[in-house]
Amino acid sequence: VVLEVDGDRLAALGPGGEDPPAGARRLAGLTLPGLANAHSHAFHRLLRGRVQRGAGSFWTWRESMYSIAGGLDPDGYLAIARATFAEMALAGITLVGEFHYLHHGPGGVPYADPNAMGLAVIEAARQAGVRLTLLDTCYLHGGFGQPLNGPQQRFGDGDAERWAERAGLLPSDPGTRIGAAVHSVRAVDPDAMVTVREWASARPAPLHAHVSEQRAENEQCQATYGRSPTQLLADQGLLDCRFTAVHATHLTGNDVVLYGNRRCTCCFCPTTERDLADGIGPSVALRDAGARLALGSDSHAVIDLFEEARAVELDERLARLVRGNHDAPALLTMASANGYDCLGWPEGGRLEAGALADFTTVSLDTPRGAGATAATALDLAVFAAGAADVHHVVVGGEVVVCDGRHARLDVTAELRSVLT
Ligand SMILES: [Zn+2]
Repeated sequence: VVLEVDGDRLAALGPGGEDPPAGARRLAGLTLPGLANAHSHAFHRLLRGRVQRGAGSFWTWRESMYSIAGGLDPDGYLAIARATFAEMALAGITLVGEFHYLHHGPGGVPYADPNAMGLAVIEAARQAGVRLTLLDTCYLHGGFGQPLNGPQQRFGDGDAERWAERAGLLPSDPGTRIGAAVHSVRAVDPDAMVTVREWASARPAPLHAHVSEQRAENEQCQATYGRSPTQLLADQGLLDCRFTAVHATHLTGNDVVLYGNRRCTCCFCPTTERDLADGIGPSVALRDAGARLALGSDSHAVIDLFEEARAVELDERLARLVRGNHDAPALLTMASANGYDCLGWPEGGRLEAGALADFTTVSLDTPRGAGATAATALDLAVFAAGAADVHHVVVGGEVVVCDGRHARLDVTAELRSVLT
């Protein structure tokens, strides 16, 4: 197959002959649309290997995350985000949605440029060679009716109007789009949700929120507002085709219907949800109701979209004792086109003329891929390949990973220097 690139777009796809056209670059293996990591907190990469042991809970894990967040400044944030995004590039990820809430300095004091941290994320993605949707996150309360406490003060803008004013100053560029996020129903009150929704629909921009990752959040929301988090978001007018519910793990039947009827996306993060003992979201019920599914590596316990994709199917098998719920093409669509759509790049995540020239080549010349045929290669990639099998990555027509190496950065050295 020959992929013809013109600028940052795929101009044409067609059968290749015996000899490659002049000037062509050979991508040996199975070439897929670029993968979209629809939910990331880059700095959580600092927690890998440090929070997996022992018991604890989502809530004790959160305390570890707060203590790491407390030590970062814009330079440190740039370094960890660049290294993490570069690890994503090596894993075949061409677009990342960064759910960014670490906005201000210690004590919540703004930096001279109040977007210094967000700009560090934008620069990190540019240097790592991946596309970015910066989901600037509104975070106002430390819990239902609670003030921000300790390191949480760095997340808050005081009120939703000041959040909107600051987020409105963030610049987009050819590789960067700006979206919005409501951190959660714990951290944003119903009036503030409306302000964030209006900000996002005026642009229009994607709007994401963490929803129902933990049962305790559902119980507290029910006690405070007499309804589920999903119903609360729906009542504030947030649920439409630009809305993404991240996790969507513990849903009622009515929540599932709402996501389906409003054509929302639900972003599952199975490796994180596993690591934090969150639970397994209702992927089949959501799909059958009409919702779309996307994928994220969230806390970066691992960065491997193949693992996230097959987990949606394999976790569903364990939960329902039924095989064959989502096939490999459907899982790949979650990892690519659906992620691009929910991050505000509907022209990407697909291999067709006119689409963004973002693609990922999985080598079949590895122990995982050996023996693949044209008939089995896609199932093999989705159900058995991993980040280490990605050999070439192209973003906007530019080669970012070649023969398994990042074109610009020594990723292992960068990670080692920020993690030790
Ligand atoms: Zn998250």
